[in-house]
Amino acid sequence: MSAAAGLSLRGLHVELGGRPVLRNIDLEAEAGEFVVLAGPSGSGKSTLLRAIAGLVPTAGGQIEAGGAVLDGLSPGKREVALVFQDHALLPHLSVADNLAFGLRARGISRRDGRQQAAEVAGRLGLEALLDRPAAQLSGGERQRVALGRAMLRNARLVLMDEPLSSLDAPLRARMRQEILELHRRQGWTTVYVTHDQAEALSMADRLGVLVDGQLQQFDAPRALYSRPALVSVAAFLGNPA
Ligand code: ADP
Ligand code: MG
Repeated sequence: MSAAAGLSLRGLHVELGGRPVLRNIDLEAEAGEFVVLAGPSGSGKSTLLRAIAGLVPTAGGQIEAGGAVLDGLSPGKREVALVFQDHALLPHLSVADNLAFGLRARGISRRDGRQQAAEVAGRLGLEALLDRPAAQLSGGERQRVALGRAMLRNARLVLMDEPLSSLDAPLRARMRQEILELHRRQGWTTVYVTHDQAEALSMADRLGVLVDGQLQQFDAPRALYSRPALVSVAAFLGNPA
């Protein structure tokens, strides 16, 4: 892989409960690329992100990010941020404390942590909400806090697992734009998982379709839509061809 590559998966294999869940996944994303992974429920999308983050063991293959081999590194050493659909915020803690959560463990003082949290909150339009408990936020606000955490991790590689699926349609459309802008501004390499065809086609630089643990096709959305490699890819994209 070139030093500039954001993410490289080679022959990735994952088994869970004695059953193959990901089979021979090859995928290379350029630094700064916004990659979308789509596919039906149960196809292995979440497992793929969790494998990259080091949260599930791999049974074969190699993972590289930013030129470093990640296999064998504990999750905390991977400099990868994972944003979930259910935000994983601590409901009784304030926005500031949720943002700063985990910074202490990385040797950042409480005072510096609060300052960094305030800066990120400002960039996300959350400055007025710093002292509010997470339980009292709207869905969109909670999602911004989750993105703020990814910003504070200083990660180059950001993995998002259906981050907008619990939001209503108008907010989802707005947050898509926000996420794309944040991705560009932060210079992230992003892998964004969704099962929503419209989201996949509108957001991706390149789009991968997972079916039954295999990456069926990985290409520009336009190419996938007009030249689906398999009936299953065409079916997923809603293309009757
Ligand atoms: P997706 O995110 O695309 O819906 P997942 O990655 O969550 O799919 O799951 C892929 C497959 O792996 C599913 O068949 C699921 O049941 C199985 N699976 C996920 N986690 C585990 C686990 N901890 N143990 C056993 N099987 C699992
Ligand atoms: Mg999933």
